[in-house]
Amino acid sequence: MPEAPAGPFLLDAMLGKLATYLRMCGHDAAYALDEHRDTEADDELLAAARAEGRTLLTRDVQLAAQAGAHGFLLESRDVADQLRELHDAGLALTLDDRPARCGACNGPVERLPAGAERAPHAPDDGPVWECERCGQQFWKGSHWDRVAETLAEIRQDNGS
Ligand SMILES: [Zn+2]
Repeated sequence: MPEAPAGPFLLDAMLGKLATYLRMCGHDAAYALDEHRDTEADDELLAAARAEGRTLLTRDVQLAAQAGAHGFLLESRDVADQLRELHDAGLALTLDDRPARCGACNGPVERLPAGAERAPHAPDDGPVWECERCGQQFWKGSHWDRVAETLAEIRQDNGS
């Protein structure tokens, strides 16, 4: 049983979906293919993880070995199974009632003030959050519910 993985995280190029989930759970999850980063090179990922103090999440056995204590190897291909692996290892996976991070870019999000312009598909009432970095807006719609359901199933599987 590996040590509980601790954030902040850096996810390799194969883990884009997982990055979104972790961000929605409030974890600082940088992704190899984030716009400002955009690298698939192992040595660049290792250097970035080290420089930024991030735990490197990867499905690449060699890369995880190179990262040593700063790496965490995931074995599953499916995102729900990857989440289960992290949960089993001790990582908290709960949806924040108030989103803290942008699922798209990992930037901090702020609640839109009343009367602010909302995205075309945003609901007219209920809270909407906006990413300070990329401007994407979020609300608790069907996507939120699906993610919440997935996480609830994972927690139930372990009886916790
Ligand atoms: Zn963003």
